[in-house]
Amino acid sequence: MLKHPSNEQPGRATMTLDPRFGIENLVIPRNELAPDELPPDAAYQIIHDELMLDGNARLNVATFVTTWMEPQAERLMAECADKNMIDKDEYPQTAELEKRCVSILGRLWHAPDAVQATGCSTTGSSEAAMLAGLALKRRWQHRRRAAGAPVDRPNLVMGINVQVCWEKFAAYWDVEMRLVPMEGDRLTLSAEEAVRHCDENTIGVVAILGSTYDGSYEPVAEICRALDEYQQRTGIDVPVHVDGASGALLAPFVDPELIWDFRLPRVASINASGHKYGLVYPGVGWVVWRDAEALPEELIFWVNYLGDNMPTFALNFSRPGAQVVAQYYNFLRLGFAGYRRVHAYSREVATRLSARIAELGPFELLTHGDQLPVFAFKVRDEIRNFTVFDVSGALRERGWQVPAYQFPKNRQDLSALRVVVRRGFTHDLADLLIEDLRRQLPRLEKQHAPQHDSTTAAGFHH
Ligand SMILES: *Cc1c(COP(=O)(O)O)cnc(C)c1O
Repeated sequence: MLKHPSNEQPGRATMTLDPRFGIENLVIPRNELAPDELPPDAAYQIIHDELMLDGNARLNVATFVTTWMEPQAERLMAECADKNMIDKDEYPQTAELEKRCVSILGRLWHAPDAVQATGCSTTGSSEAAMLAGLALKRRWQHRRRAAGAPVDRPNLVMGINVQVCWEKFAAYWDVEMRLVPMEGDRLTLSAEEAVRHCDENTIGVVAILGSTYDGSYEPVAEICRALDEYQQRTGIDVPVHVDGASGALLAPFVDPELIWDFRLPRVASINASGHKYGLVYPGVGWVVWRDAEALPEELIFWVNYLGDNMPTFALNFSRPGAQVVAQYYNFLRLGFAGYRRVHAYSREVATRLSARIAELGPFELLTHGDQLPVFAFKVRDEIRNFTVFDVSGALRERGWQVPAYQFPKNRQDLSALRVVVRRGFTHDLADLLIEDLRRQLPRLEKQHAPQHDSTTAAGFHH
């Protein structure tokens, strides 16, 4: 059974201060507010030292989230640390940069009328998913009410490989999650299965551009086509939301011929994480609706902006402006060619690294890193004495964070390791990773039995 989270803290209740600060016998409580002040240098040092135990972000190939930005971007972010995104009146230029980013994304994703496409920044794709899901739910309610039909049992269809934010959406907003299980080699949603799970209570289908499990794109165009046929057959019109947390800021640059966005009339909205392949430090996501019709009026709130009214739809109120400014910096600095260059390099690193891992012998690739620059691999079935969880543990000894995880229904028999390649992960770092993996193999191969399984694993990160 899952333990309910509590405030119980492990370890000692107090901290001591390094003698160099010249304050003797000071007892500093760890888990409660201290009665007195500390000099700023002492407070800084305590926290700085404690954070040394965090992993090295650059060796973390578990996360999709940006771990390197240019110093100029960092400088801009520091300059904007005090700006509140919601104060459109006080910081009109920050608001203007947000509007430009939405406009850039609307065009990048081929909104039929870029002026009509509406959207906003969020704290990440999770908040964006809440907003997009809510819009789907409201539109469905309007359609049903107009037809005099009940609105009490909405459902949302998606593959079981969805990110946890969709489970949250379903739980917070009372929508049934219709999860399509995996089957055999099919580890994502298929068009056929998507349609099979739809009915008159379906508010939408979520298609993922870049599954977090293995980096593969779901067939958005096929799903839309199948839903067109479904509408012809049944009269039921099911919109599609594309969860492009990773892929929506990658595919337009490196797979421009792939049709997954607003070029498909059925795609109502798209979300992306600015802090993944948008190349910004954590704290920014985006959601864009294809046109005004896709975003119900009642979800829009108006705030005062230079004597004018500006629409907002985010869940949060106060929010830092720095990430939005950094997003605009990247758009301005890199342009189309720059994003293409950065992401093409990541894909080159990912495909070369996956090929070299396949050559080692004991591993089999599930994906190759040729869609998202992300790939998953497993230990060959005939190998019984070590598991992917042992491999993950062995790499951890050298500081690499390569998560191992079990797949969901109906592929719980399958466990894999996953590598996420992103900006800052070079061929050189990939070579170091492969050398460390090669060095650990003889020891793993000598093992008599697996040492780690899914219950002792470090876990699967977004
Ligand atoms: C990362 C991710 C999310 C959640 O995004 P955050 O920006 O971390 O909130 C949702 N969906 C997919 C497919 C993701 O990869």
